[in-house]
Amino acid sequence: MKKQFQEFDQAFKYYGGLYKNIEKANMLNDVIDVGNGLISSIRSRDNRLPDAYVNLVDEWTLNARTTKFNGKYFIGINAAAIVLLKVLFFRMLSNPKILISYGDILKEVESPKIHNAQITCIEHLYLQIDDLNPLHFPVPKDPARKSIAEFLSYTAIKYLILHEYGHIVMGHLEYKNEVTNSFSFNEVFCITDSKNQLNPLISQTLEMDADSYATNASLSDLQIIVENMGQLPDDVKFIYKNFKESFSLWVFSIYSFFRLFGNKKDSVEQLKTSFYPTTGMRQISMVTLIAKLYAQNGKKYTDELFQIALQSSAQVEKSFAEISEQGIGLESIEFAVRPEAKEHFGIVLKNWNNVRPHLEPFAKANLAPVVE
Ligand SMILES: [Zn+2]
Repeated sequence: MKKQFQEFDQAFKYYGGLYKNIEKANMLNDVIDVGNGLISSIRSRDNRLPDAYVNLVDEWTLNARTTKFNGKYFIGINAAAIVLLKVLFFRMLSNPKILISYGDILKEVESPKIHNAQITCIEHLYLQIDDLNPLHFPVPKDPARKSIAEFLSYTAIKYLILHEYGHIVMGHLEYKNEVTNSFSFNEVFCITDSKNQLNPLISQTLEMDADSYATNASLSDLQIIVENMGQLPDDVKFIYKNFKESFSLWVFSIYSFFRLFGNKKDSVEQLKTSFYPTTGMRQISMVTLIAKLYAQNGKKYTDELFQIALQSSAQVEKSFAEISEQGIGLESIEFAVRPEAKEHFGIVLKNWNNVRPHLEPFAKANLAPVVE
């Protein structure tokens, strides 16, 4: 085994280690190349940033993690996360009622609804599906729609990798190690880590910080691809032909990603005890951060992009309802705008001012400014 593989395997040995069947799985191999390529492209534009090695963890629930081992940074994406994201977007694009302005919807055949589209474990996916009929694992028939499904999957996977890289470059790992004696961050609470947790308020603040980094970095990545569209294969150029269009798909992907990773039921008690911000909180911050980013850059179409983001988010809710028996699920957003949740959100944001000085000695990039 290559040394890098061995170290990765050891770094995540308590969580399943390196994904074992890698040679068999082309799609999973692609993800490793895309992830490592993404990190090196970011580093080529900012030489202060550290290296991090991306690979897959042999675990069949939705999760991702990052750690520091032998002085090196590792980002581990659970193999299940890739499969679940891909199954979700392929199911959506093979439905003729979803994202109807893309490709030829007449080629698509609606597949049976599944009970719950917010699946976080591979076993649950199979439990919901009674046989291996291809109709249950639909693939878009129209090539353009298949390309869109691939774009949505890769955008979400890259966002997840950038979120982990955000924990690294903002110094979260060293800070956590100082407080808890563990460098490890994971994205869904995991019992193995229950002894080494930061307090929930600090944890939520760091998660919001990693989301902000990922939103910034992921939109820059999209902008760079749009600007260098000439180098792309002809059959995917249409996705990037204008920034607004690809931005709308970007929001669709990331909003869906939060929907998949989020808790199904938010509660007031959970606001103070959870290690993660609520789904609605993350979705609303993503959309408001975009508006701020564009305003700072003096771009004149802030309101228009904001409207596109809102419309795209609404499309995601409609799409989840089309493919599953859940119906429109606006609970997360409705919960996030309740007075108790808004008050808590304000506390998490203000807490940045308490956490920021602790990160300063460890951060490898500019930390977000103090909150006024
Ligand atoms: Zn995180």
